[in-house]
Amino acid sequence: MVKIAFFDIKSYDRDFFAKENKKYNFDFQFIENRLSERSVKFIEDGTEVVCLFTNDIVDEKIVDHLVKKGVKLIALRCAGYNNINLDAVRGKISVVRVPEYSPYAVAEHTFALLLDLNRGISRAGRRTREFDFRLHGLLGFDLNGKTVGVIGVGKIGKVFIKIAKGFGMNVIAYDKVQSEDLERGLGFKYVDDMDEIFTKSDVISLHCPLLPSTRHIINEASIDKMKNSAVILNTSRGALINTKDMLDALLSEKIAGAALDVYEEEADYFFEDCSDSNFLKDPILAQMLGMHNVLVTSHQAFFTKEALNNISETTLANVKSFVDGKKLVNEVK
Ligand code: NAD
Repeated sequence: MVKIAFFDIKSYDRDFFAKENKKYNFDFQFIENRLSERSVKFIEDGTEVVCLFTNDIVDEKIVDHLVKKGVKLIALRCAGYNNINLDAVRGKISVVRVPEYSPYAVAEHTFALLLDLNRGISRAGRRTREFDFRLHGLLGFDLNGKTVGVIGVGKIGKVFIKIAKGFGMNVIAYDKVQSEDLERGLGFKYVDDMDEIFTKSDVISLHCPLLPSTRHIINEASIDKMKNSAVILNTSRGALINTKDMLDALLSEKIAGAALDVYEEEADYFFEDCSDSNFLKDPILAQMLGMHNVLVTSHQAFFTKEALNNISETTLANVKSFVDGKKLVNEVK
């Protein structure tokens, strides 16, 4: 029987994978720890597949351990693969991923963040529970007529643009690949230079992958070009933003706000319950959480029933193709 070791597994993952496994009857080993040099030792003998999530880091050392254990396939249960050192795995272990599970989930969450940050929804909800019905600090702006700059018009970026158009926003977008049909169909305008996104946008939303070329695209220099009223949204990957530069800009009121579902140092905190700590050791995260113009969610944009269904379906279908020696349509090369 094919053995799959799942790392960083949570109860909701187990439920969806167990349901989907009725089709396959794979032998599951659930390991709650993230993949590390310590936890890699928990993999049972005879395991050929490990199933990983966004914060399971696969570097050269981990690859050596996995190879020694006899692991032949890394089945990522996520779309991004920046946590895998592809040079280190090449020729040793195949990697598959779930390229698309619900662009709607992520795009809708991005908009939820924008609406909440702009109109102070969470803040107002906390206040009214305390029977405080005042409006101070809750002043927002109309989205209608404002310019939103989208970086990365892929599966998620496209859905985000449709939603933004529904709110009457003027959409400009930067992507290294442009499609006139898409531009016409969705009613937005490409810009040829990313700087135009920075200078013209009231809201900037990041939907490109994290690559060496996109790391820290939001930094002191790009922020300098932005309007003082600009709001930054990031549901893509934390390291697209130099967070220290962004925090400085927020504190000096160079920009107006930020809503983040991802953070470059998220691995120590996100998805975990740290509520028994007296304070957060990460000073940047701690400071941002104390600011009314910053909203942070814990990498939950993907978290809908539809997405979890698609993730378990595609992940186990990827494993089945590997076991059957078929072409790996979702292979990361
Ligand atoms: P996608 O591959 O469909 O689209 C990415 C787009 O970015 C493509 O159009 C590509 O041409 C463009 N791009 C690549 N390099 C670029 C560059 N240098 N500058 C501008 N554009 C560039 O990906 P997707 O499914 O839309 O996902 C986008 C990102 O969202 C993923 O990479 C992932 O990091 C993130 N994501 C986050 C969550 C979450 O829960 N927060 C869930 C899924 C995906």
